[in-house]
Parts: sequence; C-alpha cells; structure tokens
Amino acid sequence: ESFTLMNLSRQIMKGLTKLGFTQPTPIQAKTIPIGLLGKDVCGGAQTGSGKTAAFLVPILERLLYRPKDKTATRVLILCPTRELAIQCHNVGTKLAGFTDISLCLCIGGLSLKPQERELRERPDIVIATPGRLIDHLRNSQSFNLDSIEILVMDEADRMLEDGFEDELTEIINACPKKRQTMLFSATMTDNVDKLIRLSLHKPVRVQI
Ligand code: AMP
Repeated sequence: ESFTLMNLSRQIMKGLTKLGFTQPTPIQAKTIPIGLLGKDVCGGAQTGSGKTAAFLVPILERLLYRPKDKTATRVLILCPTRELAIQCHNVGTKLAGFTDISLCLCIGGLSLKPQERELRERPDIVIATPGRLIDHLRNSQSFNLDSIEILVMDEADRMLEDGFEDELTEIINACPKKRQTMLFSATMTDNVDKLIRLSLHKPVRVQI
C-alpha cells in the first residue's frame, strides 16, 4: 500500500515528501491503518525498520482530525535513550512541519529549567526518556499526564533492560485509562509481555 492510498491529510503528505518518504516500509504499511483506527498496537520491529513514522503518522493525523480548543499535552512518546528521543523529535518536527502541532523534547543531559518552561506551555507531543520524565512529574506541580490520549513506548525491551520497569509503571499509571497505546519491541521477553498486559487493551499485533 502506498501513502496515497491511506487517506492522509495534505499537511502530513507534505511532511512525508519533505522527509523523502514516498513508499511506506512494511511496518508503516501495517501499523498506520491500525493506528488511524485508534486501536492499541503491539509491534515487533527493530531500529531501522521505519517504526518512528509508523507511530508518528497516525498520531499526527489523530491530533489533526480531533482538534482540542484547550492547550493540553495529548501524546507521550517514551524512548530508551536520548539519542533515540532526539531522532524521534527530528522526524516528528519534519512530519508536523506543515501543521501547528507542537513537540517538546524531555531528556536527561539538558538542564531542567528550560524544559520545565516548555512543558508548562503544554506542547501537544512530549518525547521523553523515562528517567527525566519522572523527574519532572515528581518535582513539578505544573506538569502531569492527565490529558494524554496516546502513549507510545518505543523499544520497550531496551527500556526494561535499562531498569526502567518501575518508572514505566509509574508513568502508565499516571496516564488516563482511556487512551490509545502503541508499544514497539525488537524482542518479546517475559518482562515485555508483562508490560504489554499492564498497558495495552486488546492490542493488534504487528510483526515484520
Ligand atoms: P527508523 O526505524 O524509524 O529509525 O527509520 C530508519 C531509517 O529509515 C531512517 O533513516 C528513516 O529516515 C528511514 N525511513 C523511514 N521510513 C521511510 C520511508 N517510508 N521511505 C524511506 N526512508 C524511510
């Protein structure tokens, strides 16, 4: 299936063109239609498969066609490392370049204060590493996850290997129960399975 058959909005098609993406990768072809339906997704995919756009395209579409009048952070994307969060932020910024959707990067290694200010502006999408997000949640009265509509856990196996299980549980519990959740993992270990059972509701499984 080509991107043109997915009924995407003009703005997102322009973003894809800007990135030089003309044909979807297999994980994108499978995940985007499911994500657009608002269903939970459990994806088995490696780095390099194109999974970043696989979750970002349906996210941006859903934000566009279900606009909100009040400013609220509606999407949380969790990545295991700063580097992956930065990559995700770069792709997201380009894809959303023809929309007014705002993105914020919330990672360790940058000072807390400017991030706090950015979070207080309630960006539509927050891309975070679990440790730094927890710092903000615990120390700040001005940021919470009450308005999250879509939660993404990218490279869940790596986040668990890095010992973020407690942080992930705390973050999931701080999000509204009624939400869409997408989880990606290269391997399906017992711990990943546990996380899937904790966080996903009737997920559609996508394997490439
Ligand atoms: P990812 O797995 O999301 O990190 O993507 C891996 C690489 O594939 C990145 O360099 C992307 O820019 C590239 N990529 C992702 N989707 C496409 C696509 N549909 N067409 C061409 N390149 C892509």
